[in-house]
Amino acid sequence: MQNFINVIIPIPLKKLFTYSITPSEAEFLKTGMRVAVPFGKSKIYTGIVAKIHNDAPVAYEAKEIHQILDDAPIVNDKQLKLWQWISKYYMCTLGDVMRAALPSAFILESETIITKHVKTIDESILKDDEFLVYEALQHQSSLKIHDISNILDKKNVLPVIKRLIEKEAISVEEEVYEKYKPKLVRYVKLHANFSSETELQKLLDDLSRAPKQRHVIMTLFSVSASTKKPVKVSDLSTESDASVAIIKALIDKGILEEYHIQTDRVQYKGDDNEVTKQLNSYQKTALNDIKQSFNNYNVTLLHGVTSSGKTEVYVKLIEEAIGNNKQVLYLLPEIALTTQLVTRLQNYFGEQVAIFHSKYSAHERVEVWNNVLQNSAKAKIVLGARSSIFLPFNNLGLIIVDEEHEQSFKQFDPAPRYHARDTAVVLANLHEAKTLLGSATPSLESYFNAKQNKYGFVEITKRYNNVLMPDIELVDIKDKLKKKRMKGHFSDKLIEEMAETLKEGHQIILFQNRRGFSPIVECKTCGHSPQCPNCDVSLTYHQYRNQLRCHYCGYVVGMIQDCNACGSQDLDSKGFGTEQIEEEVKQLFPDYKVARMDLDTTRGKYGYEKIITALEQQEIDILVGTQMLTKGLDFRNVKLVGIMNADNMLNFPDFRAHERSFQLMLQVSGRAGRTEERGKVLIQTYNPYHNILQQVSTNNYIDMFNEQMNDRYNYKYPPIYKQIKITLKHKDYNTVDAASIWFAKSLRQVFSEHVLGPESPPISRIRNQFHKNILVKIPKKQSLFKTKEAIIKINNSFLSIKGFRSVKLILNVDNF
Ligand code: ADP
Ligand code: ZN
Ligand code: ZN
Repeated sequence: MQNFINVIIPIPLKKLFTYSITPSEAEFLKTGMRVAVPFGKSKIYTGIVAKIHNDAPVAYEAKEIHQILDDAPIVNDKQLKLWQWISKYYMCTLGDVMRAALPSAFILESETIITKHVKTIDESILKDDEFLVYEALQHQSSLKIHDISNILDKKNVLPVIKRLIEKEAISVEEEVYEKYKPKLVRYVKLHANFSSETELQKLLDDLSRAPKQRHVIMTLFSVSASTKKPVKVSDLSTESDASVAIIKALIDKGILEEYHIQTDRVQYKGDDNEVTKQLNSYQKTALNDIKQSFNNYNVTLLHGVTSSGKTEVYVKLIEEAIGNNKQVLYLLPEIALTTQLVTRLQNYFGEQVAIFHSKYSAHERVEVWNNVLQNSAKAKIVLGARSSIFLPFNNLGLIIVDEEHEQSFKQFDPAPRYHARDTAVVLANLHEAKTLLGSATPSLESYFNAKQNKYGFVEITKRYNNVLMPDIELVDIKDKLKKKRMKGHFSDKLIEEMAETLKEGHQIILFQNRRGFSPIVECKTCGHSPQCPNCDVSLTYHQYRNQLRCHYCGYVVGMIQDCNACGSQDLDSKGFGTEQIEEEVKQLFPDYKVARMDLDTTRGKYGYEKIITALEQQEIDILVGTQMLTKGLDFRNVKLVGIMNADNMLNFPDFRAHERSFQLMLQVSGRAGRTEERGKVLIQTYNPYHNILQQVSTNNYIDMFNEQMNDRYNYKYPPIYKQIKITLKHKDYNTVDAASIWFAKSLRQVFSEHVLGPESPPISRIRNQFHKNILVKIPKKQSLFKTKEAIIKINNSFLSIKGFRSVKLILNVDNF
């Protein structure tokens, strides 16, 4: 009897390939182990064994595998089941899933680039063949696998490479990401010049004319005497009741000396862990309700207003789960934006928290992977963004999906186009674990599921410490403009509130939505605005670099001096972005420190963290930012939030625009007044009677939900209907046009009026490819499985039409 294995390889193939193995290999191999297999003429891939069997393939002769790469499975059966589900549900190949699921260091392939490890190693530990490769890398900066094949004069070189990686002699190329960053905290001490009694006395005498500064110095002494610890700038400021500016003046004068201490986020150990907080009565009730709910439901939605203390409730559930020796997955929309939460959990759980992030280096990711695989004490709690659903859990007890409404849980490109929240529910079921979805502004689909009794439902309606919800006021800018009460983009009301807030020593956040609202340059004479040569879109003006950029393909040119079309020099930059707001604020409040947080300012090293820390330490008075500001940040001293323009969010052409605007505005509002004093939110709009704005200002989720659901019923949108979006792309417009008409027509023969399109999207050409979209709407009673089967069948006929073969086709299930 012959032995065969089916192997998943990380490329999009419809079917798994079968390879033949020897009886002894069959005895050794288990599903989930890696094997190196030949593919095509000369390629070698790393594959995962999906099945071991005795059925020879009918259509082709099975090739032999090259090599077994593992002693034990690195992927377990539950994962393979999850991969299968993802591939079926999201209509992609197992190869697509594998590529997304495994850290790249696990997937050596012919295109992999191999470089020297940064460390130098003791060459004597290398075997002969290993040494040859190592030596070659002393002369060449990088090698590909086939180069190594040539050097060693043999095909199967993966084992050698694997051993070299283990010996840290070589590295496998990947994009270079920064490591997770330690947090830098600012401290002050008296400058060494004043360490002697006499110098100190002299200083204090000198300062008798500057009583505030003198008071700061005296406070510094008393604080450090009582705590015997380094003194933080922020603590000194609070204790001495002096502004950060005064402390800065003392530093500038060389009287105080500033220094930084790294607060290491990773190494918390044993006894140093904080005990978890005592819950208040609302939190206790919620905790008990959740546990009750878990008796009846696998999934429960926790709807708790911003700052109600949801995190502390999660913490109790986590404590219990790990107490039962279970693993916990804590999913976050974007981990880079939640350093505060990371610190909080590490304070409680120390080393048991592992962080998994796609921006980690391959090495770090492999480390977390192995810890999870081995159910190690170092990875009892995994905190991660969407891709952490792919980790090799074997004993999962609880999944928390925090901020479950966030769009970034959905992967749009490339395949698998999965939604991590929905996939998490499937993952939890495979482990017979429970899932808790949490949000202050749940997605309509989750709330709907709760209402339909598919999910359990628990609420917290009070903020922790009974802090009041912020006072939200709408400002009619149409009216303000008429009455000439606008300065740039600021209403008199906003300026007034800002001035007052600053005077009281509180901080301000100004929110400017980014999407669909970028400054473009327009010629005042002929109306022309510069376009991207590759995409069907106007270029965006970036004041900071004085450039025009395309936000779709990255095309850049210097700012033009005169109109490309008519030569006029009378140019106008329309619209406003965060940069322009920042400029205007600086002019309005020149004495205060203004900073900006958006993609541009957070790109660099420590970019995001620097801004967060600066805001925490009150070195920034006014922060201008985009969506990034909405993500679960907890700042003590922010009292005013200004939303510069609500209308561009509301008018965005998407069926979820209203729901998302509501979520976004309430989330940013939630950043205001999280301590005793009530926060204030001002929303500037041309349309103050818009229902969504009324619902935001009264924090009325239920009204928003009911009204939006009505629209979803009427217009047949999710969560009432399901939908699959089909995108066709080609560089030739006529080809994509004909192809999409053919495709839509074939779909209509099956689904009749439930097919929309083909339509050109608002931006119809991106990177020189024309796009067409078709939308298939699926009523609840229609089988999703049969719908997908029909689409696949149509796709197969489509591929057999000669003229269409070069058209790229993308299927996106739940494309919202
Ligand atoms: P949410 O996640 O609902 O927005 P958080 O969990 O961030 O709310 O809580 C808001 C603030 O209240 C945090 O600063 C947190 O430390 C504090 N807090 C919440 N619950 C408690 C508690 N039981 N004891 C002490 N402080 C708490
Ligand atoms: Zn012109
Ligand atoms: Zn472009």
